[in-house]
Amino acid sequence: MSPRPDRKDPHTLSDLSLAVHAGNVLDSTLALRTPLVMANSYQLPDDPSEISWSATAPGLYTRNTGVNQAALEQKLAALDGAEDAVALASGVAALHAVFFTHVRVGDHVVVSDVVYEATWRLWTELLPRRYGLEATFVDITDLDAVRAAMRPETRLVCIEAIANPTTKVADVSAVAEIAHAAGAILMVDSTFSPPPFYRPIRDGADLVVHSLTKYLNGHGDAMGGSVSGRRELIEPIKADAMVDVGGIISPFNAWQIQRGTVTLPLRLRQHFSSALRIAEMLEADPRVEYIYYPGLESHPDHALAARQFGGRGFGGMMAFAVAGSPDVQNRFVANLRLITSGFSLGHDDSLIVHTGTDGGRVATYPAPFREFGHLRLSVGLEDTDDLVADLSEALELTFGRDSR
Ligand SMILES: *Cc1c(COP(=O)(O)O)cnc(C)c1O
Repeated sequence: MSPRPDRKDPHTLSDLSLAVHAGNVLDSTLALRTPLVMANSYQLPDDPSEISWSATAPGLYTRNTGVNQAALEQKLAALDGAEDAVALASGVAALHAVFFTHVRVGDHVVVSDVVYEATWRLWTELLPRRYGLEATFVDITDLDAVRAAMRPETRLVCIEAIANPTTKVADVSAVAEIAHAAGAILMVDSTFSPPPFYRPIRDGADLVVHSLTKYLNGHGDAMGGSVSGRRELIEPIKADAMVDVGGIISPFNAWQIQRGTVTLPLRLRQHFSSALRIAEMLEADPRVEYIYYPGLESHPDHALAARQFGGRGFGGMMAFAVAGSPDVQNRFVANLRLITSGFSLGHDDSLIVHTGTDGGRVATYPAPFREFGHLRLSVGLEDTDDLVADLSEALELTFGRDSR
């Protein structure tokens, strides 16, 4: 008889089991949970002369890594299907760590024209002005435009699998092919599409960034960010951006996020099924001006999303506007009773945020976003019927009883 396989080997576990078991660390107490180690320093060996102060080894100093950070990184690598991962203080710290480590003076980057606010500002303002780095923004769904933007000195292509906030979907394997043919690496911010829903590494992404603040933690009570990828790309991020720039994750946040990830696959099912039902309800309502949700056939990237995400759903994020001026949008939000107005996303509670029609970034959004502004809705874990009822009642309150 062949030996029984190791049932907790992350390479063989299915998604739900992986989320429960990957990255768990037992200490000498044999407590069944990974202990929270709130230490910033560790006892050194008797002869510390051989220790390098820039090392990312455990057991030195918490800026060089700690018990909870390492456990979380092991879990994230397993979830993303990556060789290695690094956890940092926030999603933005993770993005910056990639740029700081992998882009040099003289390099050029290609950036999707719809990206998270901070990515946009880093590549339109901060990095070009302060360090002379050069970025070209392209419509990532136009593969000819992506190809045309590549230069011999292009080092990095930076995209979002599902873009914040328009929900534009990138064809990751096609963009990876273009990037690699030009000798560049592809970074995918997959915050809107966490594992096991989507694993960009399997489609050729070199680096995957998550804002752990969002779905991976899932409960709105900790901030963090991560980068996953091959060891040769992650190790320099740890050595340069983590140890020497210092945006490390606190042990408590790492512990909290690790606990959050246990229920990630289960939570995503509920987020996604509610989101589809809500998107269909909003699309059918004449008081809704427009709606973008990749699960709707009317979404320009629906077919790509169906293929790329392999039937595992279409995410929990959508953008829409109700008919009327910004005042009407604000009134609609104020009329919601269950859904809360707030930044962030991927939490247990549903969050909505109203964004206007101006700002440099908005110029690259589809026409209805520019004309009406948009409401970005993160569908939470409340009962689907309760959420649908909240939106219906807010529409009635905003437009009047018989407005439908
Ligand atoms: C929120 C977000 C970030 C930034 O993450 P923080 O944890 O807030 O720093 C980056 N990318 C995307 C797509 C996001 O939604």
